[in-house]
Amino acid sequence: MNPRTLLADAARTLAEAGVESPRVDAELLLAHVLGTSRTALLTLADVDDDAAARFAALLGQRADRVPLQHLTGRAAFRHLELAVGPGVFVPRPETELLVDWALQRLDGLSGPIVVDLGSGSGAIALSIAHEHPGARVTAVERDPGAIAWTRHNALARVGAGDTPVGVVAGDMTDPALLSELEGRVDVVVSNPPYVPDGATVPREVADHDPPLALWGGPDGLDVVRGLLGTAARLLRPGGWLGIEHADQQGTALPAVVRSHGSFTDVEDHPDLAGRPRFTTARRG
Ligand code: GLN
Repeated sequence: MNPRTLLADAARTLAEAGVESPRVDAELLLAHVLGTSRTALLTLADVDDDAAARFAALLGQRADRVPLQHLTGRAAFRHLELAVGPGVFVPRPETELLVDWALQRLDGLSGPIVVDLGSGSGAIALSIAHEHPGARVTAVERDPGAIAWTRHNALARVGAGDTPVGVVAGDMTDPALLSELEGRVDVVVSNPPYVPDGATVPREVADHDPPLALWGGPDGLDVVRGLLGTAARLLRPGGWLGIEHADQQGTALPAVVRSHGSFTDVEDHPDLAGRPRFTTARRG
C-alpha cells in the first residue's frame, strides 16, 4: 500500500475519534510497526499487507483512545526511553522542566541525595540519575501495579550504565517513610496526584492512567498536603523541594507550602506553554 494514502486515511480516522494529534500519532504508530523512525517514513515506497494489517489493528485501539505510549510500549522523557503500559502513569513532557530545575539545584554537588515521591515509570528519578551521575536517588512508589514499571525501568538504566536508583515501596505521606534519610536529603521532587476529584480529563487519562497517580481530593491538593511533612522531615536545612501541580493551582499550592511553616523561598514556575506548572521551596 502507498504509505501516504495510508497515513492520510489513518490521520482522518484518529481526528474523527477526537485524538489530539492525529497525524503525528498515525506516523508514530506506522513507524513503530515498521521498526523505523518517523522521518524514515518520508522516503518509504510501500507498506506490505502484513504491516498494513498490524497498523490497522493499532490504529483501531488508538481511535478507541488507548494512549499512544501504551501501544508502542515506550515513552520518551528527556534523554530516556521508558517502558510504559497498563498500570503506570505515562510521563508528560511538561514534567521535564521540573527535572531541569532539580538538576540546577544539584549542580556542583558531588553524590547528592535525591528523593522522588510517587515515581511511577521512574521518569524523574531515572533522569536525575542519568543527568547527574553519582547522584544517590531514591524513587518511592506506593501503587503495586506501578512499582513493577519503576523497577523494570530502573534495572534497564543500570544495564545502560547509569548510577543505580533505589526503588522503595511506600506512601509519600507516611511519617515513617525513609527515616534513615531524615535531615540528609538535598532535593525532594514530586509529580504527585493533583487532579481535583471529579475534574474532566481526556479518555486516555481517565481510562488508562492509574487512579492513584491522578486524583488528589476535592481541590487536588490532599496528597500534596500529606507530602509536605515528609519533605520537611527528609530535607537538610537549605535543601530544596519541587512539586508539580495543575494549571489552576499556581496560587493555591504555593499558599499551602507557605502555610506549612517549614519552608522559605516559595516560588511558582510556568511551563513552556506559560501555564503555572510547579512550585519550589527551600527547607528553612
Ligand atoms: N498532568 C497530569 C494530567 O495531565 C496529571 C498528573 C498528576 O496528577 N500528577 O492528567
